[in-house]
Amino acid sequence: MAKYTGPKCKLCRRESTKLFLKGTRCFTAKCGIELRNFAPGQHGQQRTKLSEYGQQLREKQKLRRIYGILERQFKFYFVKAQRQKGVTGEKLLQLLETRLDSVVLSLGFASARPQARQLIRHGHIKVNRRKVNIPAYNVKAGDVIEVKDAEHTKKRIRENIEASASREIPVWLRVNKEALKGEVVSVPTRADIKVQVNEQLIVELYSK
Ligand code: SF4
Repeated sequence: MAKYTGPKCKLCRRESTKLFLKGTRCFTAKCGIELRNFAPGQHGQQRTKLSEYGQQLREKQKLRRIYGILERQFKFYFVKAQRQKGVTGEKLLQLLETRLDSVVLSLGFASARPQARQLIRHGHIKVNRRKVNIPAYNVKAGDVIEVKDAEHTKKRIRENIEASASREIPVWLRVNKEALKGEVVSVPTRADIKVQVNEQLIVELYSK
């Protein structure tokens, strides 16, 4: 699958907010937003008023970048959310938040999304006792996420859990840090998803 390989901090600076794309570095003074909180490029420091379309576009780009998803797949998620019963914006966020890579990251098993994806792709993660190596796999309420038996992987994951101890585990997930096990208690509601984005603007953008 194609992926963005450019500088990650530039993405945060473009969106003028922390997208937490670099693991522990994002919580230090070396964070790109802390050092240079203005848009990248020659005209980055100029103030510009965004049009309605510009605001919608920025919200879409922000959400897409938080979850590390390329345009085509993001549109696919939107279409899928639209087909579901309920509020499209909330459904879109649910689809993104219940991706296995998001869950592995939220449980603290990985320090950043790329590492979560690597753990999954390399077959270190099991869902309901079966190996799942697809980062986009959507978990359901009641699913149990475990780390496969490999001592060196478990050691790395324990280190990640320790490093992320101050991070809050979402209320819709439960984690057993000793057993390296997580459980999906329920499907997250909008209130459970802490991503700071105005999803309604994204719905408006795609509904044009
Ligand atoms: Fe974004 Fe800061 Fe993390 Fe860079 S270090 S990815 S600017 S949050």
